Amino acid sequence: MSAAALTDTSKLCVHTITTKPWSVEEAIDKYAEAGIGGITVWRQWLEGRDIGAVGEKARASGLEMVSLCRGGFFPAATQAGRDEAIEDNRLAIREAAELGAPMVVLVCGAVPGQALEESRKQIADGIAAVLPLAEEHDVRLAIEPLHPVYADDRSAINTMASANAVCDQLDHPLVGIAADVYHIWWDPDLEEQIRITGEKGRLFGFHVCDWMTPTADLLNDRGLMGEGCIDIRGIRAMVEAAGFSGFNEVEVFSDRWWAEDQDHFLTEIKKAYLAHT
Ligand code: ZN
Repeated sequence: MSAAALTDTSKLCVHTITTKPWSVEEAIDKYAEAGIGGITVWRQWLEGRDIGAVGEKARASGLEMVSLCRGGFFPAATQAGRDEAIEDNRLAIREAAELGAPMVVLVCGAVPGQALEESRKQIADGIAAVLPLAEEHDVRLAIEPLHPVYADDRSAINTMASANAVCDQLDHPLVGIAADVYHIWWDPDLEEQIRITGEKGRLFGFHVCDWMTPTADLLNDRGLMGEGCIDIRGIRAMVEAAGFSGFNEVEVFSDRWWAEDQDHFLTEIKKAYLAHT
């Protein structure tokens, strides 16, 4: 590693949900002050805001707008539910365009009791339905495979291979993958799948955090990089070998860290990024 890499936070991006107690304005100010390069905004942070102004503020502060989180949740038991999901994803694409975010991250969805195959079909159909609007605004759609522990109600796309299958089916330059170490670190085919994803020009995002042992809560007990068992450096090397040169996005849902002073947490995020990512 070069000396610059030891202090370089220009490719560090933080998700607004990581510092959940902060408003988007506070997050922008604090991240910029800390020398962080990018920000990914979660849609809840935009409620009641002038979205264009938030994007402007981020850019004026020197932050790159990396992505908008999140769209998806396409499967539903009824046609009305699926139509509603498509409308919400169209809204997410418009919000991304207003914000100046080049990409919407998709947590694709699943319906408990519905066959995963059917949910995958509904996901592909849903993405296809919103693609014309994505084209109009030139917004990328990044499918984020989720760990299989979430296959009941959060996503029927649980591996890079499964995400690649949907991308192959849709075969569109605006449809790709956001690879999150939390969800894919266990996959024996990870290196090969990351290589294929890069080769096809669809590795759009890279999210980092860590897997705690034991995990107290499967949603809100993620670790900061280095606190858990994931070989984050190893996976980063795989994505970079596959041609990825984008941001390393820190996405940590943690009741434990949210209870801390967030200025202290941000300092720890930078340390963990430089030491373990
Ligand atoms: Zn993620």
